[in-house]
Amino acid sequence: MSQLQSLRGMVDLLPVQTNRWQAVEAVARSHFGRSGFEEIRTPLLEVTELFARGIGEATDVVGKEMYSFQDRGDRSCTLRPEGTASVVRSAVQHGLLSQGAQKLWYGGPMFRYERPQAGRQRQFHQIGVEWLGVSSARSDAEVIALAWDLLDALGVCGLELQINSLGTPDDRQRYRDQLVSWLEARFEQLDSDSQQRLTTNPLRILDSKNATTQELLRNAPTLLDALSDESAARFEAVQGFLTALGIPYRVNTRLVRGLDYYGHTAFEITSDQLGAQATVCGGGRYDGLVQQLGGAATPAVGWALGMERLLLVLEAAAAADPQGPAARLTAATPPDLYLVNRGEQAEACALVLARQLRGAGLAVELDGSGAAFGKQFKRADRSGAAWAVVIGDQEAEAGELVLKPLHSQRKESRHALEAWQSVVDLLSPTEAKPSS
Ligand code: ATP
Ligand code: MG
Repeated sequence: MSQLQSLRGMVDLLPVQTNRWQAVEAVARSHFGRSGFEEIRTPLLEVTELFARGIGEATDVVGKEMYSFQDRGDRSCTLRPEGTASVVRSAVQHGLLSQGAQKLWYGGPMFRYERPQAGRQRQFHQIGVEWLGVSSARSDAEVIALAWDLLDALGVCGLELQINSLGTPDDRQRYRDQLVSWLEARFEQLDSDSQQRLTTNPLRILDSKNATTQELLRNAPTLLDALSDESAARFEAVQGFLTALGIPYRVNTRLVRGLDYYGHTAFEITSDQLGAQATVCGGGRYDGLVQQLGGAATPAVGWALGMERLLLVLEAAAAADPQGPAARLTAATPPDLYLVNRGEQAEACALVLARQLRGAGLAVELDGSGAAFGKQFKRADRSGAAWAVVIGDQEAEAGELVLKPLHSQRKESRHALEAWQSVVDLLSPTEAKPSS
């Protein structure tokens, strides 16, 4: 029979990768916890209208990329393409906002029907934060610092923070008019995608990937010039806080985000390791969204980080610096002990011993091959364990064990001592204790 394959753009995470993901998630979880953000988990499936209303009909995500279908009750459902709309929906639905500002984080799979390539999948994963109920420029900087410091704690380098201000809806409307008339006068020079966007979503032309269009845009009017004095002052304040935090940034006047709900601060963190899919993390302020989704007017700011791209950058960092934090983070965790065992009685003993040792908190790999001792020792070495415990029928008969430090791990003295001590503790009490 023919083999079945996963769907295009849907990627398996094999154990070696899952281990790395868990290490990253553990760092993120602790980082968020220390900053007062609590985890929220929302369903993968939502009514289509949530995204149509929240993200905007004219965006690529809603227009071209959603996985939508009618369910058996004839409701239009969509696999979530991003996390923010769902988090806001949930906060409104459960009245969380009446309890004051909410600092929330989430993680998990998102679905977009895009052309798969390096750093771009159809099921991909994000970690994100949403801070609902704060409006200050300082909160924008605090949220950006949360992303920057997380990436720093993970040992990622070669990052650039780009920021822009999209101003208020009025600022954007004024700018949109300026931009459209400027571009209309140069319509023939635009790529066909951008020509189309001129009527549907002209601001998106600014982040067109087309080189000719980008060249043309060099002289286009900028959003920053169209900002009201108040919006400009707010943007200055955000930059002041970033400077005070010592976080380097570059103002990119052409940075607009793919989702319609952003205003004022927008930012992206890019990596020089990722080629065309350079953005690891993106976010900004979205003061209109809560109301748009049926809640009371509530300011908000947040970001989302792509796990697959983060892992690509981490692997590059680990390769560049094998002793650095990224390498330590992505390294596999070896067992404490490798149980070498051979012979009928020895194998029965080893099964019981492995269970006891695991119960005592040690990570124990029980060799199940029944192969010659030499072969088992090779595997023990390869496992990276600090110690091998050896049981043959002779040892089993005598009620003894051989503990052997494994050559490859002799330097792991702290780990090895703990492992040794636990085995000793476990084995000695019955002998040492006088029977009562
Ligand atoms: P891009 O411009 O690369 O399409 P985007 O603006 O659509 O990104 P966001 O909606 O802001 O992306 O999502 C935040 C992050 O999620 C991105 O910066 C990226 O790291 C990740 N991401 C988005 N789409 C994908 C995808 N299809 N595959 C893998 N990661 C993705
Ligand atoms: Mg996209």
